[in-house]
Amino acid sequence: MRRRSPEPALVAAARAAGVTDPRVLEAVAAVPRAAFVSRSARRHVDEDRPIPIGEQQTTSQPSLIASMLASLHLDGHERVLEVGTGTGYEAALLSHLAAEVHTVERYASLAQQARENLAEVGCTNVHVHVGDGTQGWPPAAPFEAIIVAAATSQVPQPLVDQLADGGRLLAPVGGSGGQELIRYVARDGQLHEDRRIVPVRFVPLVPERG
Ligand code: SAH
Repeated sequence: MRRRSPEPALVAAARAAGVTDPRVLEAVAAVPRAAFVSRSARRHVDEDRPIPIGEQQTTSQPSLIASMLASLHLDGHERVLEVGTGTGYEAALLSHLAAEVHTVERYASLAQQARENLAEVGCTNVHVHVGDGTQGWPPAAPFEAIIVAAATSQVPQPLVDQLADGGRLLAPVGGSGGQELIRYVARDGQLHEDRRIVPVRFVPLVPERG
């Protein structure tokens, strides 16, 4: 017997977390999470929980990712930067919500796997780069939205510099004990805190020199 698709459960979890944006809910319904995790983790893909992805990293629970993406209010025309590709799952959701996605991952192994995952589900507007995401991705800047998928004590300056005027940046800001997901807006080359969304616990953003 064919297994039931897990995506309806994840859409329900996103709704329960307060996500109402139809485009975000459609993206969650459209992206098969199973394509982004290891074979052994596949039986957990319909659970709204983080899943280990190798290199001691985890992919967040889908309802949190959906809440994060909803708070960016993307209309489909944006060029977006993600810092911390991991599995590529969040980038796949972004590919449905924006025009062009650049995502940077420090582990070449994870980046390569993410490329394969994204190709498998047919995402052609996502570009996966290996590097230190605290430096952003200058060749593709400026970005209308930047999403940092790892914890940081402060937003790295190169990301501020690569955000378009009026652009939104979302980051889990705080120490290793826990962070707050904060949305900022860029105005006159500076970041302004716009909204504190939810307390979270992400794996750390590790700069190359650190
Ligand atoms: N968005 C991912 C999950 C991200 S987990 C998903 O959908 O699956 C955080 C990721 O950030 C990890 O893969 C980690 O290796 C990466 N990371 C940490 N520091 C980084 C840095 N300085 N530059 C790029 N990637 C980084």
